[in-house]
Amino acid sequence: MVRKTTDGMSDWFGLFPLSTFGDGRCYIVPGMGNTGVFETDEGLVIFDVPIKQYAKKTFNQIRQLTKKPVKYIIYSHGHFDHAFGYGPFIEEIKKKGWDMPEVIAHENCIERFEKYRTLDKYHDWINKQQFASVRGREQDSLVSAHETLDPTIILRGNEDSYSFKLGKVSFEIYHDKGETDDSIWLWVPKKKTICTGDLMVSSFPNVGNPYKVQRYPKDWAIAMERMRDKNAEYLVPGHGKLIEGKGKVKDVLSITAEAMHFVHDEVVKRLNEGKWFEQIYYEMLEIFPEKFKRHDILRPIYGCYRFAIHASYRLYHGWYDSGNPTDLFPAKTDDIAREFLKLNSEEKYLEHAKKLFSEGKKQLALHVLDIVVKGTDEKNVETLVEALKLKVKILKEKVQNETSFIAGNIIDNATYQIKERLKELKKRN
Ligand SMILES: [Zn+2]
Repeated sequence: MVRKTTDGMSDWFGLFPLSTFGDGRCYIVPGMGNTGVFETDEGLVIFDVPIKQYAKKTFNQIRQLTKKPVKYIIYSHGHFDHAFGYGPFIEEIKKKGWDMPEVIAHENCIERFEKYRTLDKYHDWINKQQFASVRGREQDSLVSAHETLDPTIILRGNEDSYSFKLGKVSFEIYHDKGETDDSIWLWVPKKKTICTGDLMVSSFPNVGNPYKVQRYPKDWAIAMERMRDKNAEYLVPGHGKLIEGKGKVKDVLSITAEAMHFVHDEVVKRLNEGKWFEQIYYEMLEIFPEKFKRHDILRPIYGCYRFAIHASYRLYHGWYDSGNPTDLFPAKTDDIAREFLKLNSEEKYLEHAKKLFSEGKKQLALHVLDIVVKGTDEKNVETLVEALKLKVKILKEKVQNETSFIAGNIIDNATYQIKERLKELKKRN
């Protein structure tokens, strides 16, 4: 069977029915990311709104469950899939003449919104790649960065908690860093429920996403431990189904904390031993413990351990990571490839790449193939086409073996672009 980058991702994308839990007045409503809804006698507290495309659907689903007014909206963080689908909720409030809700976020979320406005086109471009296999490529703009519902209650700096009461229910909000620097999570003691936002996503944490800014593995571990100490019965993850039962909740938080401590501390140990990135990376792959590999909550379906090694290294190190001064101000890769082609013909390299591929050495085959792809003259079209076709074939096989949605999309998207180039070359000749 042909594996797709979205395989195993149906829970992550929220393709499961909404559910009621606890005292029957708590709801988890999936809309790519999850919206947690708590009904009290005085109104609703909503933890995260969905991505804009799912806003209407999520809103309608909530309105099938309860007609109470929305009093609080809490942003777990300011990502597009958690803080932008507020439209129908606000429209309803305006139409009914209700009071506007309080919107709670960390102050870094405001900076994030500002950053999204400055870098709107860039984020569009990068997200189309990260989500290429779910038709991101064809959409004009996934979400507009210019329409935000700004917070009214803001957790600032080191102030790491805030609490309020609604309808005799207490809500405790905590700030920790993890996937982002604006993460907050919610503990509702009366409902024995924790809402984690993307600190828990039913996958190996998205720490070290190759496209995105720095994430925080050590703080992530600490956040997991603080959550674990609440002894919750229910856990509403940022993506994926409700996690139920004290033992199960404790287990997923503990193992994730342990994995984050592990990757961070082992990278730090190796930095202290004076090792460069490549050595650290390959050593880390060797020592990845079985118990993490086997645990369901750490399946590398979105983020993965390999990315986490990068994240831990980047926390403390600059961009010169090889220790080889050749890499400090490198020549253009096309120029390097052309020099290699002066030593040996395209055909020779192509032949060697084929041999490596036939031996199952896909990654090495790609490196050798790139000498042809990058170095050959476009006039040499037959060889170029053959090299590009082989590259597509190797990349397709790599996608088949890739469990991480993000990694799969990177490869898949590049494959799509090579195919477009092949079409272009065919047209010209
Ligand atoms: Zn998310």
